[in-house]
Amino acid sequence: MAIRAREVSPEVHVAAIYTTLATAWGRQHWWPARSRFEVVVGAFLTQNTNWLNVETALRKLRSAKLLNVDGIRQVPLRQLERLIRSSGYFRQKAKRLKNFVRFLDESYGGMLSRMFAQPTSHLREQLLSLNGVGPETADSILLYAGQHPIFVVDAYTRRITARHEILPASAEYEEVRVLFERALSEVELIQECDAAQTGGACHSPSPMSLASRTPLAQIYNEMHGLIVGVGKNFCLKSAPRCEMCPLLHLLVSTGTQAG
Ligand code: SF4
Repeated sequence: MAIRAREVSPEVHVAAIYTTLATAWGRQHWWPARSRFEVVVGAFLTQNTNWLNVETALRKLRSAKLLNVDGIRQVPLRQLERLIRSSGYFRQKAKRLKNFVRFLDESYGGMLSRMFAQPTSHLREQLLSLNGVGPETADSILLYAGQHPIFVVDAYTRRITARHEILPASAEYEEVRVLFERALSEVELIQECDAAQTGGACHSPSPMSLASRTPLAQIYNEMHGLIVGVGKNFCLKSAPRCEMCPLLHLLVSTGTQAG
């Protein structure tokens, strides 16, 4: 049964999205990485490209034994550009990676553990002040590398939120983030679920997906992965596949589908 926008609060609607998807698809095992630094590098490389292109670049960095802080610190810029070429905007991204390591060196003696020990809001401000770090990249680093409880808003989150009439498409990043964090603070973490089918944007378990984190950080972690699963498989930009989507019953309109 479809719901009507005014029948439930935005928080209840968002919580229902989480419960529906987590029950259907189970744990998503984000972020697929072996180390915190690999998450950081992936967060930069995934800007404006798809994950397959990022994986190619990460593989090349790993083969060259450069997928670590010292590797990025020491590698000549031109060589770094060549290694990450598949991720697109490679010159810009190579500079951004070098710039991040410079920040890490100057502010935290090159140690991610010291950086991530900072309070979330302070570290978020610092990350946002770096060249090429917007809220999505900063929050991805905080949540998926640092296990800080902060929700990552991406284009899929905005699209689904708008099509379900939870918030207008013009809503600011912070407005969406705060709503999701408020809504998800009330839900129960759904662990592995017997009925769950592997679906969405599920990855194989990795050292980073299995890392220790608070239940709230785990819920934010799962919700972003689940949203990506909906966005990639159902909530397509020009032709949403509502009939097959697990969120169909939460679509506001009773007769028409999202356009
Ligand atoms: S595909 Fe349709 S039902 Fe699924 S999230 Fe998008 S708008 Fe909602």
